[in-house]
Amino acid sequence: MATNEIKIPFNKPFIAGKELFYIAQAVIENHHTAGDGSFTKKCQRWLEDKVGSAKVLLTHSCTAALEMAAILADIQAGDEIIMSSYTFVSTANTFVLRGGIPVFVDIRPDTLNINETLIEEAITPNTRAIVPVHYAGVPCQMDTIMNIAKRRRLLVIEDAAQALLSKYHNRYIGTIGQMACLSFHETKNIISGEGGAILINDSSLIERAEVIREKGTNRSQFFKGQVDKYTWVDIGSSFLPSDIIAAFLYAQMENADQIMAKRNSIYDLYMERLQPLAEKGCLQLPCILNDCSSNGHMFYIVTRSLKERTRLTEFLKKRGILAVFHYVPLHSSPAGKLYGRTHGALDVTKRVSNCLLRLPLYYEMTDNDVHSVTEAIIDFYKNS
Ligand SMILES: *Cc1c(COP(=O)(O)O)cnc(C)c1O
Repeated sequence: MATNEIKIPFNKPFIAGKELFYIAQAVIENHHTAGDGSFTKKCQRWLEDKVGSAKVLLTHSCTAALEMAAILADIQAGDEIIMSSYTFVSTANTFVLRGGIPVFVDIRPDTLNINETLIEEAITPNTRAIVPVHYAGVPCQMDTIMNIAKRRRLLVIEDAAQALLSKYHNRYIGTIGQMACLSFHETKNIISGEGGAILINDSSLIERAEVIREKGTNRSQFFKGQVDKYTWVDIGSSFLPSDIIAAFLYAQMENADQIMAKRNSIYDLYMERLQPLAEKGCLQLPCILNDCSSNGHMFYIVTRSLKERTRLTEFLKKRGILAVFHYVPLHSSPAGKLYGRTHGALDVTKRVSNCLLRLPLYYEMTDNDVHSVTEAIIDFYKNS
């Protein structure tokens, strides 16, 4: 049998239109292809104005932004960082690089975000930070998390890789913890191939952040005329992207609201069409808690068993629809076992990791495409 042609891919990176024009401007007009050119500044200002963060610095990835955050948090060998296990590798690995120990707690069964009621009991004298991951662009319970952090003197570093423009109680995600990290990887809502940013909401961290991002030098103070010599003053690395990347990204930022609105309309259509199956108990749909909004980053369903998910994935593939699962929980991965530890049983994490399936969601997806996917899922459950 011939392999089935993919008619509806899982993701299609969206090009807003002016990306190459802005790159040409950066290269030909501005003659600036290194970091911190005018497009980098435009992107940073756009983010600062839009979400309301004290300082935004572009990085070459969210991973790089998390590495900066781990240095800024002064993570030392043996320090513990509380997070969920149901997340991307970088949430944990960036702290392990500094000798930190990720402490994994279970997720909520509704939003699949860290279960905030389990955080307090996972705290030890070595705990330094909490890293809430806003999974699928859906906000974590930030009031509870910030309260615990304040009482127990911990830092909160938001992994907002998937959550640009999502809101928690009228505040943009990424502005609530002391620091937050964004991703512009091509699988995210707005993209630059690879790319990211660190949002610094505690202004006492800004100066050091600029040094860390510039290889541990005071280069940015030198350019502001604040020091007369440019030299090595702290640890750091090269965390800044080329202005070519920023030029691409700026064209996406100009369309960010429109991209989010389109993604949310696809999300809403999925919800409406799959609601009857959820009511029958066939599958679980995403959940956004009260007073929160999502950026439409992802649409997923949770099936009743691993076997059912495997059969459904195959069924969809035969109809030319690509749906994909993720994450191997970090606590059960080889490196996670070596470098991290768990607190409590991670039963929800285990179940979701076996049963979650992400459906196609991209800017150019039509209502007809969404109908094809939902009709296929409805057909699958008719026969099972
Ligand atoms: C995508 C992602 C990252 C990593 O982003 P990069 O920009 O690829 O480094 C980190 N955390 C989460 C939750 C992500 O989804």
